[in-house]
Amino acid sequence: MVYSRSRHAAGRRAGGSLASACFAGPGGKWGAGAGTLRRFIVQGWRICTIRGIAVEINYTWLVMFGLFMISFSYLLRPLRPEQPAWSWVAGAAASLIFVCSVLLHELCHSLVALSLGLPVKRITLFIFGGVAQVEGEVQSPRAEFLMAAAGPASSFALAAGFWLLGGRNLEPSRAQSLLGGVLALSALINLRLGEFNMLPGLPLDGGRVLHSILWGVTGDEYRSTRITAFFGQVLGGLFMVAGGVLAWLMNSMGSGMWIFFIGWLILSVAGAEGRQATVKRVLRGLQVGQVMHWPLVTLPVNMNLAYAVQEYAATRAQPFYPVVDEQGQVVGVLDRAGLQQVEPARWSQVAVGQVMAPVDAQAMTIGVSAPATEALLRMRQNERGWLLVTSPESQPLGLVTESAILAAAQHRSGPAAA
Ligand SMILES: [Zn+2]
Repeated sequence: MVYSRSRHAAGRRAGGSLASACFAGPGGKWGAGAGTLRRFIVQGWRICTIRGIAVEINYTWLVMFGLFMISFSYLLRPLRPEQPAWSWVAGAAASLIFVCSVLLHELCHSLVALSLGLPVKRITLFIFGGVAQVEGEVQSPRAEFLMAAAGPASSFALAAGFWLLGGRNLEPSRAQSLLGGVLALSALINLRLGEFNMLPGLPLDGGRVLHSILWGVTGDEYRSTRITAFFGQVLGGLFMVAGGVLAWLMNSMGSGMWIFFIGWLILSVAGAEGRQATVKRVLRGLQVGQVMHWPLVTLPVNMNLAYAVQEYAATRAQPFYPVVDEQGQVVGVLDRAGLQQVEPARWSQVAVGQVMAPVDAQAMTIGVSAPATEALLRMRQNERGWLLVTSPESQPLGLVTESAILAAAQHRSGPAAA
């Protein structure tokens, strides 16, 4: 009696935790609610690189792996109760299969993105699932559909594979052996992974699939985003409520908290995507040159730091100073961190070029006539909040910041939209 109760609890725990979200796709573009997700996934350990995509594991992933291993072990224990050690091995195996399944799901999004010409920076696995950071924007509903559907399709295919291998079984408790239990559990995990992510709200895959269909049918990308982002917010809210009910009323704290936080993450990322769609629409037609700060103070590469600080930096406060060579081409940037590498007493002996940070032209500069929305996108990607504005001849002209563009958006939308 006691035994079956604990088994039921373990099953419920595993079932609840199987809600694993995928934040793949061009969501990475506008940062999939960049701020919200970034707070979770600051950085990860790189475990490998697949076709140029860095695969990273965030430290919160360890918590997930541990929780799943415990849940799965308890779930599988009745299959060989006389040897509990084996249930731990099986639990660890199932947990590893789960992680690989999430990784494969993200890889499928990423490989389709690459085939569509969209670079993929990295895949990060974290406590609530995975993120494939796709750069750039999808150009058509068809491309978005293919990219979004690829992940769940891989999960459903894996589910079918494990289901067949395990003797067409989806219930671990009905398996004849531990191996059968692991296979049934893996089928179930992948089925839930596919189902959960096909829920029709941004930023989930199902939301992106729905978005691509609405966009394709109506031709109105903005409205499609607003609608699917709203669905995402509703879904996120419902998950938060469901998680709260589970945790506090049904005494299932682990599952409840898990679902609550996934709901919160979906709610906030969906909200961010909706707001970004509005910003993008408001900024239509606005060019970088119209919102840049100028003139820009630049520093010659051979100048010493003491002179640079006294004569140049003092005249105009900038978050950084572009460093230029004799031809006026930008070769690096000097910011506070660079300056702090050298003690003030030695500033007169060190040239700007010795402490400047190299400039990654692709990530840190933008043409003066580029759309402001593209600047916003690049700033979210380079995670700096500013870009150097250059002329068609690659000469530095000014500086554009995220706050300046958002202020322009606010100004354009007027008090009515505030
Ligand atoms: Zn996905």
